[in-house]
Amino acid sequence: MTPAPAAPAAAGAPGEAAADPLPPLREVIARHGLAARKGLGQHFLLDLNLTARIARTAGDLGAADVLEIGPGPGGLTRALLAAGARRVVAVEKDPRCLPALEEIAAAHPGRLEVVAGDALALDPGPRLAPPVRVVANLPYNIGTELLTRWLSPPSWPPFWESLTLMFQEEVAERIVARPGTRAWGRLAILAQWRTTARIALRLPAAAFTPPPRVASAVVQIAALPAPRWPADATALARVTAAAFGQRRKMLRASLRGLAPDIERRLGALGIDPTARAETLPVAAFCALARELSAP
Ligand code: SAM
Repeated sequence: MTPAPAAPAAAGAPGEAAADPLPPLREVIARHGLAARKGLGQHFLLDLNLTARIARTAGDLGAADVLEIGPGPGGLTRALLAAGARRVVAVEKDPRCLPALEEIAAAHPGRLEVVAGDALALDPGPRLAPPVRVVANLPYNIGTELLTRWLSPPSWPPFWESLTLMFQEEVAERIVARPGTRAWGRLAILAQWRTTARIALRLPAAAFTPPPRVASAVVQIAALPAPRWPADATALARVTAAAFGQRRKMLRASLRGLAPDIERRLGALGIDPTARAETLPVAAFCALARELSAP
């Protein structure tokens, strides 16, 4: 393991505030040889003002355990600790980042647990005590998969009370979309059925090192204590998959595979069978899920 530097560096890169006694991130990256790897979705945030803003977006962390996926060299991790997080559990797949993260852990005794591994394969649950807030600048290649899992727990409410997540802007727009727009679809319905979701911050590609090809946005998601409308999660997923699998078709055609008498059932629910999926609000999808899962 690379030894920690003897003394904290005096000055950071432009935009870096002196949030903790650790050296500037550019120095950490150079010392540990953390050249960004595309395959791991590595686009680092080095501006401590930005990471502090993201930590603030997550709300009061003082009484919470924070789950961070992909801490990388630790910019956001440091901001979360500086913001007073009770504990941070950080899951990182790239072993090159671990020595840098251990230096942060040493500077905050007992408050940072670094877990080496793949966030898709690990269950961090046993390491976390409620309330839990998830905060991450997610690797773009697994962001939607992780969000879908967090929004689809075996029971509700989930293990987390809020998610503060960086996505490509286009994905963020799909999470907070409204009916009648092109971005409206399965992800928006899954999110808005049981949470409140809003875009808290938009970041140009130039905010990252190296810059990705597209802009990004931080989405703030808060779990509701109960779903807005009752529905079975599996039935709802089936209905939205069928409806948006053929989003240009009328509902009576796209949903025909779910029930032979779908036109009659739609009519009975007060839903126009000639409407298209992208005009239907969450409440209507929940009503359809209830109708189709009724004995
Ligand atoms: N949090 C850092 C920041 O804001 O500068 C790095 C964010 S970077 C967009 C994504 C991070 O996720 C990288 O450190 C990468 O190595 C890590 N990562 C990629 N795939 C992962 C996976 N399956 N499980 C855990 N971490 C992963």
